[in-house]
Amino acid sequence: MNARTRNVKETKKELRWNAKCPCGSGKSYGDCCKKRDFKWVKDKKGITYRQVKMSEELVENLKKAEERFEQVFGRKPGRDDKLFIDQYRYDPELIESEFSRIALEAGVGPPVVYASEKTGLIVTEENLNRFTELELEEWDEAIAEYYDLEEQGIDPFLKDYDDGQFTYVAKWVELEAVLDGCVIHLGRFIENMPRNKKLNGSDLLQYFWVQRTFQSVRSILVLVREGVGADCLPLVRSIYDNYLRISYLRMNPESAEDFLGIAGLSWGTHEYVRNDNGKLDRRRIRNKESGQITRGHISSYKMAERSGREIDLAFFDDVYDLLSSFVHSDVRHINEFLEEDGGLKLFSEDDPRIALQYSTVILAMLLDELRLIDKVKKQTRLDLLFYVTKLRKAFLEMVEASGQIVEDNPHLFLLVDRLSLLGKE
Ligand SMILES: [Zn+2]
Repeated sequence: MNARTRNVKETKKELRWNAKCPCGSGKSYGDCCKKRDFKWVKDKKGITYRQVKMSEELVENLKKAEERFEQVFGRKPGRDDKLFIDQYRYDPELIESEFSRIALEAGVGPPVVYASEKTGLIVTEENLNRFTELELEEWDEAIAEYYDLEEQGIDPFLKDYDDGQFTYVAKWVELEAVLDGCVIHLGRFIENMPRNKKLNGSDLLQYFWVQRTFQSVRSILVLVREGVGADCLPLVRSIYDNYLRISYLRMNPESAEDFLGIAGLSWGTHEYVRNDNGKLDRRRIRNKESGQITRGHISSYKMAERSGREIDLAFFDDVYDLLSSFVHSDVRHINEFLEEDGGLKLFSEDDPRIALQYSTVILAMLLDELRLIDKVKKQTRLDLLFYVTKLRKAFLEMVEASGQIVEDNPHLFLLVDRLSLLGKE
């Protein structure tokens, strides 16, 4: 134990037996909190504190926190230093929902999650004695409130957020689990691709794009769970680009030559065509061996346009617009880093759930596209169709739980509309 802790003990005195108990029960200290696993103490200025005996676990945690501090700063923490420096790594609001998520996953009942969000306490049978009677009453009230709401058919986790943010944690846990399932489907799809037989050009391209998507979804899930979801958006875009390519290749099989020509630039089998004036023409690529000329670039817009559906172009605009407004390289978004009083925020208000939301819809589009590829086995086709339906259901349930009105939110409207087209062919 260090000097400061000892000091604290010397200057604070426990309240007298007959003092009025500070917990607010109205009883005397001796008849109330004195019987519990903590002490009420008073310092020289007359301020009362609750002194909880440090558990071994707490002492251990403090030691770890000090070591961590030294590791990062190369010195012992000083008087003005925050000891728990890892807080900078997490947005506090996200920690709260992260806690609930872990609690729900660990099988702690929803009433307990609800009550601890409401009271800031975590009461268990073992630690009952560390709380005042009022705190325990507050806890019991919150638990009762949970059951009341449930009985009235109101979702207890549904809070009213004016800005349309959703907090129904359990639904998000479900959505994440559904994305885990996407990783499994993509992994299996890759494994089921022709192996020992020679891959043709289209197979190779599909394999590459599905593989990239597989990795991106895994990274997104890690980032979302770490609470740094806004940084997922470039990954979401890469999934969308892969979707566009896979879909374009299916509708234009001859474009495989173009894509392979682009790949051939790095293999050394292809090169850009040189114009008469000696300048490289990046729109045209030549196969060094056969002399065949292919396109040097196929724009994402062009690929989105290929389906001939207006919604696909609207979707393209929306995804790219979303990304430019969240990636923050743009100074127009400087406001998101300022408090209302002009102070500076540590975290911006990016919501990782936006990334999760777009990922779900884009992955549903991509799986639906994979299902339509010629060589895909019947069972895989059915599996993919099943999963597309599952993704759509999870998404719509999450939207419903959020209490948002789809018609009022153009982004959401587009996502829901696009989902409704899946599974048709
Ligand atoms: Zn008391």
